[in-house]
Amino acid sequence: MSSRLSPALSPAHSVLQGVFGYEQFRGPQQDIVEHVIAGGDALVLMPTGGGKSLCYQVPAIVRQQQGRGVTIVVSPLIALMHDQVGALHEAGVSAAFLNSTLSFDEAQEVELRLQTGDITLLYAAPERLNTPRFLGLLDSLYEGGHLSLFAIDEAHCVSQWGHDFRPEYRALTVLHQRYAGVPRIALTATADALTRADIVERLQLEGAQHFVSSFDRPNIRYTIVEKKDATTQLLRFIEREHAGEAGVVYCQSRKRVEELAATLSNAGITALPYHAGLDTKVRQRHQDRFLREEGIVMVATIAFGMGIDKPDVRFVAHVDMPKNIEGYYQETGRAGRDGLNADAWMAYGLQDVVNQRRMIDESPAGEEFKQVMRGKLDALLALAEATDCRRVRLLGYFGEQSTPCGNCDNCLNPPAVWDATDAARKLLSTIYRVNQASGISFGTGHIMDVLRGKKTEKVAQFGHEKVSTFGIGADLTEPQLRGVLRQLIATGAVGLQKVMLDSGHSFDTLCLTEGSRAVLKGEVPVQLRESVSSASSKRTRRST
Ligand code: ADP
Ligand code: ZN
Repeated sequence: MSSRLSPALSPAHSVLQGVFGYEQFRGPQQDIVEHVIAGGDALVLMPTGGGKSLCYQVPAIVRQQQGRGVTIVVSPLIALMHDQVGALHEAGVSAAFLNSTLSFDEAQEVELRLQTGDITLLYAAPERLNTPRFLGLLDSLYEGGHLSLFAIDEAHCVSQWGHDFRPEYRALTVLHQRYAGVPRIALTATADALTRADIVERLQLEGAQHFVSSFDRPNIRYTIVEKKDATTQLLRFIEREHAGEAGVVYCQSRKRVEELAATLSNAGITALPYHAGLDTKVRQRHQDRFLREEGIVMVATIAFGMGIDKPDVRFVAHVDMPKNIEGYYQETGRAGRDGLNADAWMAYGLQDVVNQRRMIDESPAGEEFKQVMRGKLDALLALAEATDCRRVRLLGYFGEQSTPCGNCDNCLNPPAVWDATDAARKLLSTIYRVNQASGISFGTGHIMDVLRGKKTEKVAQFGHEKVSTFGIGADLTEPQLRGVLRQLIATGAVGLQKVMLDSGHSFDTLCLTEGSRAVLKGEVPVQLRESVSSASSKRTRRST
């Protein structure tokens, strides 16, 4: 093609066309590439599938042509390294990787090629970078002026606030100090404001230009349903909307993964389990099948997904709630990389709130860390409880303004809301009265019974039919009351207190908090979605 020979083409453009076979840069790629070629530092935030790889691959090749030597790409994902190096070879680019899969001899050969200037892009696992041997190699390249660029992929791994902290990433601080003047580009697809600031601080990227793309994935439809029987709801969702299509179902525990994979299989869905407790060979086999075959549903813990580049994942389902919005965004982002319609579906219930709160409370982390994690959880709970556009909230969390999307559950079927302020006050006063009457706190079931005026054995045992709130919630259904309770716990207006039994078991009891007062006084309105018996079944199938 004559355009390839056009003298007007910049070096970056001719690499894009000549090596990668693409006509044009996408979105902010060109600005990023030129900034880095010129020797600037960059922090790139771009959603999955946005085209981050080219942002360092093109500069690596151009800078190599300029005689500046090798680019070191730091990546935590071995599978991704292999894929990328393979693809670069096919494009005729000299690339290699150094990671634990290489034998000593193979690693030595790569090191030799590195020294002779034969490699344009070297992919290395972060733990490599910290070895004296590898640093020695880099030192000699640096002294000879042959260290061109550092690309730090999955840069959120450096932050403990991120959703995938990897201590080895901390060692990357050394790059800036030891190899002053070598430009660095850090890239990530998920980082909220806090994580971003932490990346900048940890990697000493204060001077870096930030390139922030829109995080919107317009082809993903977000739906969050109230959890009743998650398994049945999931089955119905898959059968109605994604029969025979590839998807990922995230669960919190390994046990749940196995059970759910079995249930789906029994229902005639090709489902495979994946979690860190499975044998490496089994995991590899399941992953390969998921990538190669059509219509496989992977039932997995969050151990699955990083670096898996399957374009036609039609849905990502959560039967348990993730820890925070970053995790939710990252996991749901694995759907629809091909740009075609895809679903992000989550079933969310009271127990999710209780579990996540408890996990934070019981973690061995320090109080500051717990506070941050609670804040992040609260943001996700607000998203789950939202009755307005999910996407507006999701993007807002990442600092992006938008207008209602027309492609989430709340936009498509605006939920009927009811004013639950009065019900919330009844619930709070019942917790107060019951706890006060007995001097101990009680669990959800008992509080519900008192509210609804049920004369159970326990009620009789504690004389709770005599408290003034006994039966004041009889006009409300149990699902309604549970919805109110869920929202009160989600917003912190009801606290959970763990009680240990002599048997060694423990259970959560309900108590009032600082946040209760405003609700009791009626200062904070409580708006709840009308409980629809099967929110997902009301949806009409898309006509695409
Ligand atoms: P990310 O790492 O951000 O998830 P990738 O770098 O894997 O994204 O790119 C996603 C897909 O988009 C890849 O298949 C890639 O080849 C393609 N791509 C990236 N940039 C361009 C471009 N400028 N023109 C056409 N295709 C592109
Ligand atoms: Zn919307």
